[in-house]
Amino acid sequence: TSEQKSLFIIFGGTGDLAQRKLYPSLFNLYKQGYLKENFAVIGTARRPWTNERYQQIVRNSISGMEITARQANEFSSHFYYQSHNVNDTQHYETLRQLADELDKKYAINGNRVFYLAMSPQFFSTICEHVKTQGLVTDNGYNRVVIEKPFGRDVKSAVELNDSINQYFPEDDVYRIDHYLGKEMIQSIPALRFSNNIFNALWNYRYIDNIQITLSEALGVEERAGYYENAGALRDMVQNHILQTVALLTMNAPTMYTDADIRKEKISALKALRVYDQAGVKQNFVFGQYGAGNGQAAYREENQVAPDSKTETFVAGKIFVDNMSMAGVPIYVRTGKRLTTKNTQIDVVFKNAPYNIFGEDQLKRNILTFKVDPNPGMELRLNGKKVDFDQYSIQSMHLKHEHGEEIQSKMPVGYEKLLYDVLQGDTASFSHWDEVYYSWRFVDAIRQGWQKQAEGQIDLYPAGSMGPKGADDLLAADGNQWHFRP
Ligand code: NAD
Repeated sequence: TSEQKSLFIIFGGTGDLAQRKLYPSLFNLYKQGYLKENFAVIGTARRPWTNERYQQIVRNSISGMEITARQANEFSSHFYYQSHNVNDTQHYETLRQLADELDKKYAINGNRVFYLAMSPQFFSTICEHVKTQGLVTDNGYNRVVIEKPFGRDVKSAVELNDSINQYFPEDDVYRIDHYLGKEMIQSIPALRFSNNIFNALWNYRYIDNIQITLSEALGVEERAGYYENAGALRDMVQNHILQTVALLTMNAPTMYTDADIRKEKISALKALRVYDQAGVKQNFVFGQYGAGNGQAAYREENQVAPDSKTETFVAGKIFVDNMSMAGVPIYVRTGKRLTTKNTQIDVVFKNAPYNIFGEDQLKRNILTFKVDPNPGMELRLNGKKVDFDQYSIQSMHLKHEHGEEIQSKMPVGYEKLLYDVLQGDTASFSHWDEVYYSWRFVDAIRQGWQKQAEGQIDLYPAGSMGPKGADDLLAADGNQWHFRP
């Protein structure tokens, strides 16, 4: 472990993301020695807090972790607070002075991470001011980390990106997709490209279909204000699901380096089949949770319109039209207030060409990536049933669960991603071209759906696995969801 010198400037330092994710992740990096002496954090937000108050908030946010009082004090002593209105030019001058002072005090050598933990409407003004008010250094790196959502369609994403790129080149922009920090999502390339048994089979000849389920048991909670204007397609499909699709369908990178991986992911997302209106109708299903299992309907939630048409569920059949995966249906579904919280990917292989075992119905081989909540893998095989007088086939499962000890050491998503930012490793962040092709695909679906639905949306009972249409989608192809809680 070598120490990474860096000054973090967190815009939105009093917010939910900062307290729940960033401070605990920074602390884990500290505990492991990646952050030690030569680092400092400036938290900024509008409230007029003192350093002491801010440091107390930081200590509170890590209080549930394994930590001694001495560690907590030492760690939090590196945190400084600067009251700041992001629209006020003068405030950046104060911020610059503090940044330069801390750079000297902690011998940071000009390395800076600007973390924009704020609403995207502020991204461009922050980037502009950071650059024009001299907050970027010329002796170290200057990296900008931004949160989702990155735009709400192609047009707004292009505008947002242009406004950022005016001040920071693509290579310095780290677009967070916290799914890419998850251990089992990071395992996809490892399994595909380090095992010839999968490498050889990973194409339309042997894969029948792929299924991605990303289900949440929670409703919209406190995020209804944002969610009403976003919906599941924008909130989950455009980013997390399509990033996962890219990792599952990309060709092998020349080497496992960020530049090579990005190149292949971009190609995969460029190859997404963009639907016309008829295609959307045939291949996509939208739903919204109604009351069920003692839980209120979406329309009864705070900040939600009583006649809201926002989708809290979406399922679809996606194709990536490249040489190896063309024709393989990729079924995806995600939603809120579903039966259980679960993220998994099932790669369903084709049956053996001929069944020599007669009557027995052979089950398809399925490779499952269990992403959340219990990370691991599973492979369904056919084997011989233990039986005296009859030779018959039964299905069996090879299972690997990352046990408790490994799980306790697993970096949480943000920790791994923050570490990568410090390393300058962009592999687990979305390149602009990936964002662009994802929006192009999603825009077509949204437009097709809006025309076709004319404002109608299927309700599903809270606590179910979504509208019936999501099952029909697979049944039409003779398939069914492998994950059925
Ligand atoms: P939040 O509302 O809790 O925090 C926003 C922060 O911005 C606060 O510190 C607030 O004081 C500050 N702020 C607002 N207006 C300001 C201004 N004019 N000048 C200076 N400071 C100002 O929001 P959050 O949940 O922390 O989310 C931040 C960003 O991260 C958003 O883009 C959100 O979409 C994204 N995000 C959050 C989560 C999460 O788990 N909270 C997950 C994914 C993405």
